[in-house]
Amino acid sequence: DLLVVGSANADLVIGVERRPAAGETVLGSDLAVHPGGKGANQAVAAARLGARTALLARVGDDAHGRLLLDSQRAAGVDTVGVLVGGAPTGVALITVDPSGDNSIVVSPGANGKLTPEDVRAAGSLFHASRVVSAQLEIPLETVVEAVRSLGPDSRFVLNPSPPRPLPQEVLAACDPLILNEHEAKVILGDALVGDDPADWARILLARGPRSVVVTLGAEGSLVASAEGVTRVPSVKVDAVDTTGAGDSFTAALAWKLGAGASLAEAAAYAARVGAAAVTKQGAQESFPTAEEVAAL
Ligand code: ADP
Repeated sequence: DLLVVGSANADLVIGVERRPAAGETVLGSDLAVHPGGKGANQAVAAARLGARTALLARVGDDAHGRLLLDSQRAAGVDTVGVLVGGAPTGVALITVDPSGDNSIVVSPGANGKLTPEDVRAAGSLFHASRVVSAQLEIPLETVVEAVRSLGPDSRFVLNPSPPRPLPQEVLAACDPLILNEHEAKVILGDALVGDDPADWARILLARGPRSVVVTLGAEGSLVASAEGVTRVPSVKVDAVDTTGAGDSFTAALAWKLGAGASLAEAAAYAARVGAAAVTKQGAQESFPTAEEVAAL
């Protein structure tokens, strides 16, 4: 019922005392390899909640690609749309220092080779989906083609991350456009006024999306539609690691919308999912089951 169109990366993480300066070599911890990328994360998050989920993505014909396919299948994601080959699997090289500050280099690899043609070839996945969820770690023209491939009754959810200017055709399809404060600021650009996220949500809404959700971390989120702007509180938890909060929030919201929830209901459920995700280390490892959400 949910189709995620997006990226799949291997996250290669090394802990260091100090991140290296130009020309410097530092010694670090053992390497940890985690499945990641916003598309892969969203698909795993939704499937773990019990959503029937498919992923349209591209990985390389290599060990990282197999790691990603295995983690999707283990979560119960339909991987018929995960294409293999064309470039090495996308990689994020991450160094983290003891204070938690990191430096990241991303090689998009196969994510950059997910083409509009791949989207057209996946027409049956689009027709079988009530909700299509995308992000921007794949080529923009591929996202545009996903919008053009929506079935007559299907809904489009976009997290514009990493943020960049969006064509009108994409903006107008979003229901909702869902973004954090940083993404909102970049997308607003010159139109950014003041520091009230409710104003940002109104300005974004006027640009064409049918609805907008601005996520505010521990402050919860703002939901904006023709009916106005409402605040959805977060759930109080002891945050351990906020990695993946936005991905699990978006996945939960998209799934609930497809199941018939109102935007406010879906955002309230997504807040519980995001809160559960920040109580555990990691991204995919931290995503809760429906039982864990209910127990929160
Ligand atoms: P991103 O990960 O994209 O930066 P946010 O940090 O805004 O996104 O988090 C997305 C959602 O996850 C929030 O709207 C909130 O519901 C939930 N969330 C994030 N951080 C916390 C936290 N510390 N405590 C409770 N909920 C949180």
